[in-house]
Amino acid sequence: MAMIQVTNLKKSFGNLDVLKSVTFDVEKNDVVAVIGPSGSGKSTMLRSLVHLEQINGGSIAVQDRFLVKDGSYSSPQEIKRITGKMGMVFQHFNLFPHLTVLENLEIAPRVVKGEAAADIRRKSMELLEKVGLSAKADVFPAKLSGGQKQRVAIARALMMNPDIMLFDEPTSALDPELTGEVLQVIKQLALEHMTMIVVTHEMGFAKEVANKVMFMDHGEVIESGTPEQLFNNPQHDRTKAFLNRVI
Ligand code: ADP
Ligand code: MG
Repeated sequence: MAMIQVTNLKKSFGNLDVLKSVTFDVEKNDVVAVIGPSGSGKSTMLRSLVHLEQINGGSIAVQDRFLVKDGSYSSPQEIKRITGKMGMVFQHFNLFPHLTVLENLEIAPRVVKGEAAADIRRKSMELLEKVGLSAKADVFPAKLSGGQKQRVAIARALMMNPDIMLFDEPTSALDPELTGEVLQVIKQLALEHMTMIVVTHEMGFAKEVANKVMFMDHGEVIESGTPEQLFNNPQHDRTKAFLNRVI
């Protein structure tokens, strides 16, 4: 089953065409690495999937239900239901600074889902354990390293039981020595068969963990394929030029 189908997605800001007819599929259990130069539309594409951006044309379907079809959005309830299947992790963590780690994890499920508090607590402690931060439950984000903050952000996204995780350059804001601990958590999710789209500049990670790599440039998907195809045998000059710059 296709988890996500994006067809002819168009997005512009004013007269800047940021996404020009982007089309791609994500299958269940795919780990898709999205690579490409800064400004190519990677973040806008991810943000469109969770309706943080309103698109100007095309379709997005998640698990065969349309978020937007030929430019027309579904009802607000349907949009909420569909975007609720996806967890998003941002480059700059976006934790609530006035809430402890545990409160950051629990606020959305408490407000949104009406689950029993004890169940929420059990899950939040499990997820903190999973990301190696049980000891930080009662700490405020300001006391954490960047790598720890990002691991909290991942645990927070997982609290909503997403079927799909979206990562927008999850390690770009981190000191190099802290990227490994975050990539390790994402890799663990891949091993557990979480369906994921990861926008990343970490080519080693993309090679090792992704089963598909998609190269974007100037608002278009230039090519996609297995890591082997894309890194070892790129077809397009723009892909070759980009890889020559970053590898
Ligand atoms: P990437 O994530 O690949 O670096 P983005 O999706 O962030 O690219 O941006 C693509 C283009 O869209 C850039 O030219 C950027 O300046 C522009 N852009 C992104 N967000 C906005 C916005 N809210 N308003 C105007 N232009 C934007
Ligand atoms: Mg970006």
